[in-house]
Amino acid sequence: MNHQSFINRERMIQHVEDLFRVSSESREEREIAVKLKEELENLGAEVFVDDADKAVNGNSGNVIAYVKGNKPDAPPFLLSAHMDTVVPGKGVRPIRNGKVLKTSGDTVLGGDDKSGLSIIMEVLRTLKEKDLPYGDLEIAFTVCEEIGLLGAKALDPKRLKSKDGLVLDSEEACILTTKGPAAVRMDVDVIGLESHAGVAPEKGVSAIKIAAEAISKMKLGRIDKETTANIGVIQGGAATNIIPNHVHLKGEARSLEPAKLKVQTAHMKKCFEDAAKKFFVKTKGKKITGKVKLDIDHDYTRLNLSKNSQVVKLGIEAARELGYSLKEGATGGGSDANVYNLWKIRSANLGTGMRDIHTVKEWLDLDDFERSANLVAQMILLHAVH
Ligand SMILES: [Zn+2]
Repeated sequence: MNHQSFINRERMIQHVEDLFRVSSESREEREIAVKLKEELENLGAEVFVDDADKAVNGNSGNVIAYVKGNKPDAPPFLLSAHMDTVVPGKGVRPIRNGKVLKTSGDTVLGGDDKSGLSIIMEVLRTLKEKDLPYGDLEIAFTVCEEIGLLGAKALDPKRLKSKDGLVLDSEEACILTTKGPAAVRMDVDVIGLESHAGVAPEKGVSAIKIAAEAISKMKLGRIDKETTANIGVIQGGAATNIIPNHVHLKGEARSLEPAKLKVQTAHMKKCFEDAAKKFFVKTKGKKITGKVKLDIDHDYTRLNLSKNSQVVKLGIEAARELGYSLKEGATGGGSDANVYNLWKIRSANLGTGMRDIHTVKEWLDLDDFERSANLVAQMILLHAVH
């Protein structure tokens, strides 16, 4: 077995540390986008920043780059990572501690997803400098992934020719995520009937009571192995002496199985509708019940790659050549890979070494980081000869 390391580990670590110091919370990716554009151009890529900034209301579009391969007959391949981070992501000071990069504890690190950006850049540098065989590569560094895959969704699919691709945006380097959920988001307005709580409570219908009744009857949390649901926002009411006539809620449901998602969505809808009917007043012989207005939005379609898809075969073979053991995984989260698969770019999500993401305890496992980069480089080489 051949345990070679293609990439320059130390150079990649320094690069990711540099990226950590450039703040790029969602909608504020301009500085990092400019930096990456310049680096890509220095590598000879043709780089383009699209106008996704308008769609996402941010200060930068997606960075899209075309890297000409030295194997013109090889099919193009997409490599993607996102430039934005969650909050608090400003003023990150990375601390190196042996085989770990971490933060000072008051910000996230931003390994999600700057580790992915650095892996892609290091692989490109390595391919060029060692003159390894590779086909045309398409690079997509997206904005606003963390706030609903907004950058990828705003990208014009006509810009991409690849049929296969890899997103670098999950934790374990030797896990290739090939299954991901479809999701719905719901916005719910519960409408009651306003009345003075002290003078005429019998003339009011409380929107808060309706919302409480609905949620108490609702199956939430982990529904089964493949399905989850949550009510994440609840807002309403004006004063203690007013029976509230309006509550606004936001919720979501996800499932790897579209049929189960349908069932869960219908269940949540019914809980709201049943609860609204239960509370009413009668005036002049007329019954006035509460009402609900549901706005249900299909957020992204599921990720479901077969064992025979090119990216899965490349991953398994690359791992074998490197002496790693690669596992296929399922996730409960969404990534830009969901969007690319919708466009028939069969893309899996490979881990980068990021850990404890979306917390101020976030850290990067540097051995895993290196493994991930080697896997990506090897996959590109294999794709060029297949
Ligand atoms: Zn991410």
